[in-house]
Amino acid sequence: MRKDWDSYFMSIAMQVCERSTCPRLHVGAVLVKDKRIKGTGYNGSPAKLPHCEDEDVGCLVVNNHCIRTIHAEVNCLLEVAPNDRKGATIYVTHYPCPECQKLIITTGVTRVVYANDYTPDVNWLDMAPWIEVVKLNIG
Ligand SMILES: [Zn+2]
Ligand SMILES: [Zn+2]
Repeated sequence: MRKDWDSYFMSIAMQVCERSTCPRLHVGAVLVKDKRIKGTGYNGSPAKLPHCEDEDVGCLVVNNHCIRTIHAEVNCLLEVAPNDRKGATIYVTHYPCPECQKLIITTGVTRVVYANDYTPDVNWLDMAPWIEVVKLNIG
């Protein structure tokens, strides 16, 4: 059967996450507008800084979260021109954390499609009912 658009873009997000440099969690994001990919991102260290996967460095864990990386959603949104974020859909392999949710809301993204559940302490998306949030079950 031919893949529907949501499954298609999610499968790309799952490819993108394989570039992640944090062994604790591989997250991928793809921003799509008018069925065109505008940007992609995965969680990794800031440019030129060491990566979690570097053996002599490792993850930097604070409160049970690795804080060494920039999250996939942030890297993805940074790659895209402001106009292309408005009204776009972001495909993420994992439900966004509160900080990324705030960026998703403020950049004008109007649809979030995710594959893996995660329950954040605070859920900003719940306070932004104009944003459609869809869980995609992917095999
Ligand atoms: Zn890490
Ligand atoms: Zn995040």
